[in-house]
Amino acid sequence: AELDTLDVIVLAAIFLGTVAYFTKGKYWAVTKDPYASSFAGANGAKAGKTRDIVEKMEESGKNCIIFYGSQTGTAEDYASRLAKEGKSRFGLETMVADLEDYDYDNLDAVPSDKVVMFVLATYGEGEPTDNAVDFTEFITGESASFTLDNDPPLGNLNYVAFGLGNNTYEHYNSMVRNVDKALKAAGAHRIGEAGEGDDGAGTMEEDFLAWKDPMWTALAEKMGLEEREAVYEPIFGITDREGLTRDAPEVYVGEPNKTHLDGTPKGPFNAHNPYIAPIQKSSELFNVKDRNCLHMEVDISGSNLSYQTGDHIAVWPTNAGEEVDRFLDVFGLTSKRHNVISVKALEPTAKVPFPTPTTFDAVARYHMEICAPVSRQFIATLAAFAPDDESKAEMTKLGSDKDYFHSKVNAHCLNIARLLAVVSKGKKWDNVPFSALIEGVTKLQPRYYSISSSSLEQPKLISITAVVESQNLPGRGDPFRGVATNYLLALKEKQNGDPNPSPFGLTYEITGPRNRFDGIHVPVHVRHSNFKLPSDPTRPVIMVGPGTGVAPFRGFVRERKKMVENGQTVGKTILFFGCRKSAEDFLYKDEWEEAKQVLGDKFEIVLAFSREGSKKVYVQHRLKERAKEVNELLRQKAYFYVCGDAANMAREVNTVLAQILCGERGIPEEKAEEVVKQMRATNQYQEDVW
Ligand code: FAD
Repeated sequence: AELDTLDVIVLAAIFLGTVAYFTKGKYWAVTKDPYASSFAGANGAKAGKTRDIVEKMEESGKNCIIFYGSQTGTAEDYASRLAKEGKSRFGLETMVADLEDYDYDNLDAVPSDKVVMFVLATYGEGEPTDNAVDFTEFITGESASFTLDNDPPLGNLNYVAFGLGNNTYEHYNSMVRNVDKALKAAGAHRIGEAGEGDDGAGTMEEDFLAWKDPMWTALAEKMGLEEREAVYEPIFGITDREGLTRDAPEVYVGEPNKTHLDGTPKGPFNAHNPYIAPIQKSSELFNVKDRNCLHMEVDISGSNLSYQTGDHIAVWPTNAGEEVDRFLDVFGLTSKRHNVISVKALEPTAKVPFPTPTTFDAVARYHMEICAPVSRQFIATLAAFAPDDESKAEMTKLGSDKDYFHSKVNAHCLNIARLLAVVSKGKKWDNVPFSALIEGVTKLQPRYYSISSSSLEQPKLISITAVVESQNLPGRGDPFRGVATNYLLALKEKQNGDPNPSPFGLTYEITGPRNRFDGIHVPVHVRHSNFKLPSDPTRPVIMVGPGTGVAPFRGFVRERKKMVENGQTVGKTILFFGCRKSAEDFLYKDEWEEAKQVLGDKFEIVLAFSREGSKKVYVQHRLKERAKEVNELLRQKAYFYVCGDAANMAREVNTVLAQILCGERGIPEEKAEEVVKQMRATNQYQEDVW
């Protein structure tokens, strides 16, 4: 009985949708392209839309909204999966929403027969993701003021919460914890547990799956929902555009939006709109076979982009041709790869994640994370479309048995196409609706790199220091190769004289859609960070950055060198660097010498080579050896920085620093840990880890 009004709204929405569907040709022909997507311009997608979530739910007949706070796309993906599952299993009218697109002051007006879900990633030092900053400030703020005068303010609100975090960080899952606390304090009712996924332990996907089932049970009970047999219903409609070829000017063959399609990309350049930047030069930094580390100089002078020493640059990669071929092949799309299609959301609140009209090839190459880890939930969805009973049974087993899945799939870093080919022994999966792939394969994400140049020295030239991702895995013929870094390696090879680069046999559409990346260009944007040198240059700094963790510290050291050349005085600058062998992977060996020439005894590099002596020596060992000096510098208010491996190194450095304080200051261990915490809270201890 509780859902009566809702039923009426839903029926009305279905009716209106049906009318719209059958009258489509007639009434929609007024627009130039009835299938034109919302990627009209860099920022066109949001123009003119309501920011009122209650209004939005009402007008679209929704009773479940799933907000996401996402940085790298995983939270957004989980939100979509919840939406899909809620709809197919329980008939909920779900919609996914970017936190950035709405106001929150009327969360108190969401009726109690509806539910709001929050899927929230925690980023870096317990920070919200970029799209969740305003929401977090609002909801956790002292004086969140809502539109109504309810007491308690959110007494009508039913919510569900899941967080994505990494236990190697100090503020583990602080976003979901803080938001959950704030919502509860305002009187809202949580349904199910507040879930926490842990990327640090590598169990994110499994944590999510384990959390969601009891949550659905609790939600079904609370809202009186009946579970039905889940049937696959596509979210996107695919239309062949037979009259169009891929050369037609309105067809997207990899361009991220309209201004790029038109050939006149316009700023602002940001996470939604990359700048196609020339690479000024590129080289390799290691002297060893089979391990590659790139140094690249990216020229942003033709754009409005700017950066500060310590920021991050995001690289928008392209998938390797061989993986694109494999993907299209397994789904029986090879012969149609360049056919033009339009993709349209079949329901008003879903967004097509790439611009259309486009081609299957362009989608697989530029827009889908086709090489990424496969989600176990997606496997279960695909089982229904298996080419034979044996494959179906195997998929069902993989989808339901997490240990089996792990041993067969994740342990070998199989991507979706490789897995399906193995399961079906080469039979094509040509029954899989393309919509299912758009829903089940995440959007291709930009990769972030800690900028390794100094903006004082070269304000319009950004350096990248990136190790090429490659892993030999047992039980897998060829090594696993990372998406972005092998693409960058190909760019480097082309720039250095190879007209058709194919690092490790991988080829790329290196000149980009319509050859617009020719002349060695790479799509990028800049992300500002809080990882910064002290504003007072006389303060000492201690930097710990083994491997490519040295990237931002190259920038820091060059910055201080430049300051001295400009006549400024700088404080002690000490860098702990580690690698395997001095003759192999000692990054920027000559540059440290040059810095020393200018900075004199203000600069020192402390080295740890793990494969030279009889014993493995790491940066944290060196740090401990320098306990006295480190403590002394901290007393002089030195800033302490750590960059690189989050899983082990950063945590150990934290522990060692506490031990140093404990030993040198004669304080108990807990007190020393407290001091380190305090240093983090006041930005005296900064981390840039991944
Ligand atoms: P990907 O293809 O993304 O693979 C990366 C990893 O994901 C693999 O090693 C594997 O563990 C896992 N994986 C991928 N596919 C599968 C699969 N099918 N099955 C199972 N597992 C899979 N890197 C640097 O070299 N230098 C830097 O300065 C730097 N700075 C960074 C700063 C920040 C803030 C962040 C977040 C990251 C930084 N990184 C840096 C890391 C960088 O962003 C990339 O993650 C890295 O270069 C690998 O990218 P890739 O596309 O080549 O590899």
